[in-house]
Amino acid sequence: MTVDTVISGGTVVTTERMLDASVAIDAGRIVGVGERDVLPPAATEIDASGKLVMPGVVDPHVHIDGYLSLDSYETATSAAALGGVTSCLNFAWQAWIGELSIWETEGTVLEAIERQKRKMSESLIDVGLHASLTREDPAVFEEFDAVIDEGVTSFKIFTAYEIGLSNGFLNHVFEQVAERDAVAVLHTEDDSVCEELAARFKAEGRDDPTWYPKSRPDYAEAMAAEDAVRMATEAGAKYYGIHTSCRKAAAVLDEFRTDGSLVRAETCTHYTTLDESVYHDQGNLPIIAPPIRAPDDVEAMFEYLGQGTLSVVSTDHVAQNRADKEGGPWWDSLLGANGLQTSLPVFHDEAVNRRGFSYPFLVRVMCTNPARTFGLPGKGTIEPGTDADIVLFDPNETYTITADDNASVADYSLYEGREVIGKVTDTFVRGEPVVTDGTVVGTPGHGEYIHRELPDWNH
Ligand SMILES: [Zn+2]
Repeated sequence: MTVDTVISGGTVVTTERMLDASVAIDAGRIVGVGERDVLPPAATEIDASGKLVMPGVVDPHVHIDGYLSLDSYETATSAAALGGVTSCLNFAWQAWIGELSIWETEGTVLEAIERQKRKMSESLIDVGLHASLTREDPAVFEEFDAVIDEGVTSFKIFTAYEIGLSNGFLNHVFEQVAERDAVAVLHTEDDSVCEELAARFKAEGRDDPTWYPKSRPDYAEAMAAEDAVRMATEAGAKYYGIHTSCRKAAAVLDEFRTDGSLVRAETCTHYTTLDESVYHDQGNLPIIAPPIRAPDDVEAMFEYLGQGTLSVVSTDHVAQNRADKEGGPWWDSLLGANGLQTSLPVFHDEAVNRRGFSYPFLVRVMCTNPARTFGLPGKGTIEPGTDADIVLFDPNETYTITADDNASVADYSLYEGREVIGKVTDTFVRGEPVVTDGTVVGTPGHGEYIHRELPDWNH
């Protein structure tokens, strides 16, 4: 028997350990991990000497081709592949009417899923979807079963902006999510606190971007998280706190995350390595919500990642150009920042090189935990029987990040000029090379829609 590919000579990283081993791939799946001489001959032999062989990154929080984001599936997933990301979860937005909307009529979640599935035909990596609820219309609950049948097993809800839901409606959502064993994904910031502060600063003419983080304070994030996680716990719903940015919010989640509880949360790469000085140094470019916080909050992200209350690191990738962000007061800037291409190298440099976290830790928070949390059993691990989504990572190669290299349409990077040690050299999606030697070689359309399962959180 001959298999398609064997990757030999590298160091395989699992959730528990690192081992010198080869990986055999056939028909898109991993069929063996072990000494080279016990694995079958291969049509293609790939030499991974001096490199780490890791599962592809599973990024459960990206914005592609739709609300807020200029990237097409092709540009975003090219950036993703260059950054070692082999699966991601995008959002299917229930269309609403309002100042922040791009739609002229209201729409259903099922229409939104249909729309995104059509567009993702140009994807290079595998993509799944969350459903984003934007309106307090109980008719949406009639769609929930069909949405889950479509492989969309998580519902994103907001407490802020015009799409923010009241506590009463949120409470109802949690009951409906719990009934179906699905996942509630929460953006938590207390809307009236943030709106009042922003209006006041605006009236006072405080247009310097250093005022932006003060308009969306850490306690506002913690307040909304506390209400939401308390209601989710009462309802017995799986709760996932998205883009946790500060010590106060992480502490709230920690309080509710007891043995057997259904509370999980992520932070994003930028909250682990940037602090609020970026608003002085980079102006409007880092305007995202929640904002980049104080240095102590960066420390808190690692404390809570270390003890497990935060179990996932995502990007919250949003592609915009400088022109969408700069040239006006902070309140006129669009929200969001791109990060798919830089997330693994930047987080690796911060967590492993600077802070001494292990490679298995890196694999857990960027690959295995997001896959398990969101019902992607064939992803995020290097084990026989799973998809051959694999990254070859050179832990010693040093390079300088610049937006000139962006495959995303975004024309800036929050990490411009940062030198990092460690580089993605090759990315395989279901056994096919999508990036080779740092160059995209994949074909748009190779990516598949990920029909997700209802995840089991009892492990
Ligand atoms: Zn987001």
